[in-house]
Amino acid sequence: MLSAPRIITIANQKGGVGKTTTAINLATALAAIGERVLIVDLDPQGNASTGLGIDRHDRLTSAYEVLTGEASIEEAAMRTAVPQLAIVPSTLDLLGVEMEIAGASDRALRLRKALRDTRPGAYSYILVDCPPSLNLLTINAMAAADSVLVPLQCEFFALEGLSQLLETVEQVRAGINPGLDIQGIVLTMYDGRNNLANQVVDDVREHMGDKVYQTVIPRNVRVSEAPSYGKPAILYDLKCAGSQAYLQLASEVIRRERRLRAA
Ligand code: ADP
Ligand code: MG
Repeated sequence: MLSAPRIITIANQKGGVGKTTTAINLATALAAIGERVLIVDLDPQGNASTGLGIDRHDRLTSAYEVLTGEASIEEAAMRTAVPQLAIVPSTLDLLGVEMEIAGASDRALRLRKALRDTRPGAYSYILVDCPPSLNLLTINAMAAADSVLVPLQCEFFALEGLSQLLETVEQVRAGINPGLDIQGIVLTMYDGRNNLANQVVDDVREHMGDKVYQTVIPRNVRVSEAPSYGKPAILYDLKCAGSQAYLQLASEVIRRERRLRAA
């Protein structure tokens, strides 16, 4: 029997913490080891779409049409340069979708329903890249997911806002998605030369325990350059420290998914 895809939502209401970079590179790493992967770009800014080389003019059908019910996931999904990695792109239309579906009783369940309708076996992993907000788009992503993956930037206020995010996860679990787990917390943009960064890592591990992945993503120029070439860092420079860290993260994610699935 073909098993259902594992759906992981990448969320943090702070901008610039590495959500999109993690979505793109984790997805690429998963695809590279044989998974069939889909990214759903739920951020109106569309950075995941751009970072995977999808030109704005080519985004004929997007996550907007999926949420309004005008298109299926299959109709909206586009191939990328990465074999076995597809993306449902974002357009600026997403900015208005919240108001458009606000009156519908199933407004928080639109993505879940659409993902349920995908062809069995089409994808083994679906990653949802969220906007920097705990709005209806992020709630749709959490309602649709098996688990939430939280990127935290290694900076002084890393933990700030995390309790609000975890509270939102708790609310979704209490209501529309009781099966929602925390996949894990990944520390991003780590700079080992910075004493503060080391303190932040210790601090987050102390507070969040084994929710925090062993893998820490280093700050790496190659990782930040890659999107301007429309490529995941893993394609742009496989050997760089950032790419290697994302490959390592992928194996941790898979191990955890197996454990969560078995539980
Ligand atoms: P978010 O999606 O949370 O807003 P992004 O993934 O877009 O965050 O990252 C914010 C910025 O930081 C981007 O310019 C990105 O290229 C850069 N960045 C992310 N991760 C790294 C990293 N490991 N090393 C260097 N730059 C990074
Ligand atoms: Mg982003």
